Amino acid sequence: MKNAKVLPERWTCAENPDQRFNRCEVPQELTDEQIDRQLGLIEQPDSAPAPAAASRPPATDVPLRGKSLGEVLEKLVRKAALPPRAARVLHWHLANLEYGCAASLGNISHAWWDQDDSSAMQGDHAVLADGFMKIVDGLATYSDVWLQREVVRIEHSAEEVRVHTKGGGEGLVADAVLVTVPLGVLKAKTIRFSPPLPAWKREAIDRLGFGPIEKVVLLFERSFWDSESDFFGCLPPRDAEPADFASARGEFFLFWNLERSHGIPALTCISSGMFAETSWRSLSYKSVVKSALTVLGRSFGEQVQALFRRSVVSDWGRNPFCRGSYSYVAAESSGRDYDELARPVGSRVFFAGEATNGQHPATATGAFISGLREAQRIDESIKAGFPQHV
Ligand SMILES: Cc1cc2nc3c(=O)[nH]c(=O)nc-3n(C[C@H](O)[C@H](O)[C@H](O)COP(=O)(O)OP(=O)(O)OC[C@H]3O[C@@H](n4cnc5c(N)ncnc54)[C@H](O)[C@@H]3O)c2cc1C
Repeated sequence: MKNAKVLPERWTCAENPDQRFNRCEVPQELTDEQIDRQLGLIEQPDSAPAPAAASRPPATDVPLRGKSLGEVLEKLVRKAALPPRAARVLHWHLANLEYGCAASLGNISHAWWDQDDSSAMQGDHAVLADGFMKIVDGLATYSDVWLQREVVRIEHSAEEVRVHTKGGGEGLVADAVLVTVPLGVLKAKTIRFSPPLPAWKREAIDRLGFGPIEKVVLLFERSFWDSESDFFGCLPPRDAEPADFASARGEFFLFWNLERSHGIPALTCISSGMFAETSWRSLSYKSVVKSALTVLGRSFGEQVQALFRRSVVSDWGRNPFCRGSYSYVAAESSGRDYDELARPVGSRVFFAGEATNGQHPATATGAFISGLREAQRIDESIKAGFPQHV
């Protein structure tokens, strides 16, 4: 790295000039700001980091709207003129950032991309080893869960709502409806609302981002990776042209070890950024698997092909009931759009799901909490006789 010599080899708490952090007992990482300062990047007028949540501009202040994280970061990367290996490592991290946002950096808001950071949950990550169906099965023990019913129209008035499913005749009449379809489905307008959704809701739906990340699960005869690690990463190939990094860095950069969580010699291979957004759509099932095996082969050699047994490939970007994976704050959007997504319409149409939770968007936790929030809101509405929401 051009300026890497100015960064300390190790950074311990005692050496941290920021007194808030220099009394803890364990070594720690440099903060982004400290790295920028050490590299002399923070002085550059166009390298200012995204403003902290508290000092963010109001959503109505538009100057920072429209500026993407890609615009800022790609410029910095060019300026840093990194040697090849450091560049490959950096692009791995950018792919990881694109994974966190389910979008390529060029689509993400520079001012708002991390607006939920201050609400981040503490503690370890956990995997539901038996899958999310366990939760649906639990819910089905005390309520009706109907499968294979595609909602195509929601009629609502001050008196009732009527939910129409494909080929479902007169529809289902209810006091209220809680809409929890993914933002991608709302964007695609495959559910008709009658009367139509108001402009403020439609505009927020259009502005907020919703993008794909994709996965391949590969099962092997036995593991050939460090089976004690939860995950590992693979860098872009040594011979890749730096100009191609941005489009190719998300091609299977992260691998989750399922041996630890599920007791099987399998890897979940993650793809993000432009690769998941565009390249994925042109690839067949077979070529997706081949590409994941090739990336692994670069690190682990010929045994990868020899030990490979079976695969499962996702296609959330094209699935008509998802049309992506999760929400992000797009360049033209702001964190406030999550609140607009959550606002009820009329007196009987309510909204939940990850894209309605600005504190914990893009997560199963956020989706779950939004359900509790709306349960309370509906309960209050019932008690108040379904007043008009404004
Ligand atoms: C690859 C990947 C990795 C992820 N990793 C994590 C993670 O590590 N941690 C984490 O917390 N979150 C993670 N997430 C995100 C998490 O899965 C989502 O945020 C969460 O599932 C969103 O829940 P939801 O209820 O809003 O939407 P969904 O779970 O998408 O539920 C929406 C439901 O609506 C149904 N639907 C759509 N259209 C219609 C229609 N017309 N009629 C009837 N039903 C319809 C869909 O079939 C679906 O069942 C990940 C997501 C992906 C794709």
